Amino acid sequence: MGIEKYREDPRFRGIEALSAKAWLSSPTMHGEEQFYVDEAIRTNWVSTIGANINAVERAFVEKIGRPYAVALGCGTAALHLATRLCGIELYGEPATGHGSLEGRKVFCSDMTFDATVNPVAYEGGEAVFIDTERDTWNMDPRALEKAFELYPDVKLVVMAHLYGTPGKIDDLRAVCAKHGAMIVEDAAESLGATYKGVQTGCFGTESVISFNGNKIITGSAGGMLLTDTEEKAARVRKWSTQSRDPAPWYQHTEMGYNYRMSNIVAGVVRGQIPHLEEHIAQKKAIYERYREGLRGLPVTMNPYDAENSEPNYWLSCLLLDEDAMCFQERGDLRAEYRTEPGKSCPTEILEALAAFNAEGRPIWKPMHMQPIYRGHGFVSLGEDMGADIFQRGLCLPSDNKMTKEQQDTVIEIIRRCFD
Ligand SMILES: *Cc1c(COP(=O)(O)O)cnc(C)c1O
Repeated sequence: MGIEKYREDPRFRGIEALSAKAWLSSPTMHGEEQFYVDEAIRTNWVSTIGANINAVERAFVEKIGRPYAVALGCGTAALHLATRLCGIELYGEPATGHGSLEGRKVFCSDMTFDATVNPVAYEGGEAVFIDTERDTWNMDPRALEKAFELYPDVKLVVMAHLYGTPGKIDDLRAVCAKHGAMIVEDAAESLGATYKGVQTGCFGTESVISFNGNKIITGSAGGMLLTDTEEKAARVRKWSTQSRDPAPWYQHTEMGYNYRMSNIVAGVVRGQIPHLEEHIAQKKAIYERYREGLRGLPVTMNPYDAENSEPNYWLSCLLLDEDAMCFQERGDLRAEYRTEPGKSCPTEILEALAAFNAEGRPIWKPMHMQPIYRGHGFVSLGEDMGADIFQRGLCLPSDNKMTKEQQDTVIEIIRRCFD
C-alpha cells in the first residue's frame, strides 16, 4: 500500500513523518562491547575459545541461577541441541544420520517464532501445536492437558515465553510432571523476566536464550543453552564443535554441528550484560506510556500475570477489541482491509505507522496456520485463540532508544486510525 495514501489521508492531517525511524527493537550498544571485542582481536582470541566466552557463560550461570550455561552461535542452535538432548534422554541414541525424535510427536507452542519449533523437525519429530491462552498469550495449560488425553505417548513439550511475558509456568509444569514429560523452555525473548521471583530459563529440562540483534540484549547474534549437569553441558559443547573425539586426529563417534559462539560475538554479549536491567526498565516505561497514551481507545495491551510474574517488556503489543475491527482478511501472502469510521485493524495501523516512519509487526502467525506445518495436529479448547490474536493483534515500535516525542507521534497515529 502506498505511503502517500496515508500522508494524504485527512485523518492524519498535521502529523509529520518521524525524521529518525522508530524501530520495532534494534541493537543498543554502550561502549563496553567495543572494549571486549578489541581485546579479543588484540590478543588474537577471535575463534570459538576465549575469555569472553568463559565470562559470558559464568555471568549467565549467576544471573539465571542455573548450574551450567553453554554459549552457542544463535538461539536456534541452542534450541536444536536442547531438543536433541531431550530426545536422546527420552528415546536413546539415534543411528547415524537420524534424528533423536524420529516418528515421535512433540507438543509445541503454537503462537511463536518458527525457530521455537523447527528443531523438532530437524530431529525427525512431528510438532503438534497447543493453542494459546488469553491471560499471557502463551501455551494454554488446559489445552496441553487435553493434548495428553489425545496423544498419551508424548513425552516432550516445547514452550516459549512470548514477547518477554512468562507463561503459566506452574500449571504447565504440573501438567508435564503428571504425564512424565520433559520441557524445552524457549526463553529467547524473555531474558530477565521472572516468574514468582525466578528467572525464565530455569523452568525447562533444558532452556534457551537468544542474543539475536533485536532481543533485549544482543551479541549481534548468539544464543545460550542452560542445563543442570556437567555431563549435559559437556555433551552440548562437544556437539557444537563438530563432535571431535579426544583423539590425536579428527575422529568422530557421533554427529557434529558447528554451533559454538565466537569469542568476538561473546565480547559484544559481555559488554551488554551490565545493561540488561536498564534495557528492561526502558522497555517497561515504553509499555506503560503506551498503556496510558492509548487509554480510551477500543484496544488492550499484551497481558501479563502481574501477581506472579514480571515480564521484560521486550515488545509492546496491542489487541483491538472485536467490535472495533474493520474488515481485514489475510491470505498466504497479502492482506486486505476496508477501513470504517471508529474502527481499524492491524494491517491499517501497521501501514499507517510505516507511512510515518515507524516500524511495527504483526503478531507471530500461529504455527498451525503456517504452510510448512499444514496437516500437523492442533489442540485447542474449541475457539482458536491463536488465530484470533493474530487477526486482532500487532507489535508496536518498542525500541529502547525511541524518544517520548517519537512515541507520542506513534500513539497519535494509532488514535487517528480509529477516527
Ligand atoms: C529470536 C527467537 C529465537 C531464535 O533465536 P536466534 O538467536 O535468532 O536463532 C527462537 N525463539 C524465539 C521465540 C525467538 O524470538
